[in-house]
Amino acid sequence: MTVRVRFAPSPTGYLHIGGARTALYNYLYAKATGGTFILRIEDTDLERSKSEYETLQIDDLKWLGIFHDEGPDKPGKFGPYRQSERLEIYMKYANLLIEQGKAYYDFCTEEELEAMKEKAAAEGRDPIYQGKWKDPAFHAEALQKIAAGEKPAIRFRAPKKAYTLNDKVKGSVTYPEGMVGDFVIVRSNGLPVYNYCCVVDDMLMEITHVIRGEDHLNNTVRQLMIYEALNSKIPEFAHVSLLIGHDRQKLSKRHGATSVNLYRNEHYLPEAMCNYLCLLGWSHPEERDIFNKEDLFKVFSLDRFSAHAAMYDLEKLKWVNGEHLKKMSTIDLITLIEKEPETEFFSKQSQDWKNACVELLKKYASFVTDFPKLVNELILNENPEMTDPLKEIMAWETTPKILSFIKEKVDSVESEFVTEAELNSWMESVKKDMGVKGKPLFMGVRAALTGHDHGPDLKFLIPLTPVTILRNRVHQLSK
Ligand code: GLU
Repeated sequence: MTVRVRFAPSPTGYLHIGGARTALYNYLYAKATGGTFILRIEDTDLERSKSEYETLQIDDLKWLGIFHDEGPDKPGKFGPYRQSERLEIYMKYANLLIEQGKAYYDFCTEEELEAMKEKAAAEGRDPIYQGKWKDPAFHAEALQKIAAGEKPAIRFRAPKKAYTLNDKVKGSVTYPEGMVGDFVIVRSNGLPVYNYCCVVDDMLMEITHVIRGEDHLNNTVRQLMIYEALNSKIPEFAHVSLLIGHDRQKLSKRHGATSVNLYRNEHYLPEAMCNYLCLLGWSHPEERDIFNKEDLFKVFSLDRFSAHAAMYDLEKLKWVNGEHLKKMSTIDLITLIEKEPETEFFSKQSQDWKNACVELLKKYASFVTDFPKLVNELILNENPEMTDPLKEIMAWETTPKILSFIKEKVDSVESEFVTEAELNSWMESVKKDMGVKGKPLFMGVRAALTGHDHGPDLKFLIPLTPVTILRNRVHQLSK
């Protein structure tokens, strides 16, 4: 059996973190099994669906590196891939269900349905449809009404039996008899509903595995009924766990950014996003936290999902981003940094300087945007802030002597940068000629040259700092 999986977003908003995770799992499963990944646009809610959202969602998927094999922009033999273009197909199967008595026309008005619900509530019963149209004896009357131009809904006759689902994540799930009553599959305005279209499409698109969020578990019983009524094969289901925030409530905007485009704007790395999203409810067979999509193509399987809710943790995502950043090649990082604003100084430097700078600073960076900030703070800052730790070092007896020695040295440098050898010789002089050793030596020289009490290794940092800057800084500190 060749695996065919799908991601079926509704284009009613931006691509959500949860949707991206679902898309990723489907994509990975197709890649891991040599299967096909389909993108289907579920746009039968004509009022809320917008083609701009479809475009934006596809664009975000591409940014994440999640590529579909078939979809509205990649026609295949199972198209069209937009539900709004498949209405005739849904009507064909609805008519078939009517012919077989598995569905019926329903002319009940909103008021009648509401009254039925109220009556059921008053009698302490579940609000299960009990309209007269359920009775096959009224079929002929229904046809007359249609001939007279009235527009009925089409209601599915829910079989009276229990259903059991063997879910790949949740295990065995039983839906007791009578849990759902007859439900509408095509509204009186001619538009079919999600539970119905989804099954017709999954059947015709030969979907073998449905991997989607746990929030759809309740829909699945209706879908199982429809598969059965259509004599269709039933795909395997994997309902992945809910995403929750720190307060254990369902992930929503109040927990922070929930749409992928916001992370994209914040310069998160797409590889890091995929890595982190994958970890939300799935674990690597070697319990690894950091991996690439390509690593997952070899090991992704449906038996490593967790049935527990997954907590969305922005701090962990940032950490994962930093880890991916550190794994990037220096050359790729330089290219990304130069696309950032305020990197004129960086861009003007030699290739050797850029390489050394990126190598030195990447351990302090979680985001590409951190590089220009780090360059400003650690290399270009001419006016050191007199923090308490810096004041303390300045107050040591040895520091003023070191400072005036360094000032003299820096003033006499004629080249654009100090070399590591020059810096070493200054250190040696402080040690030998002034007799300063250990902490007072290292901290004193650091404070004099950088205006910081801690930071990257001086022998790498100072040769990256233009002498003009060092000079201004040392003069500033000597005041
Ligand atoms: N359009 C549905 C959604 O966006 C798809 C659910 C499914 O995968 O069956 O939630």
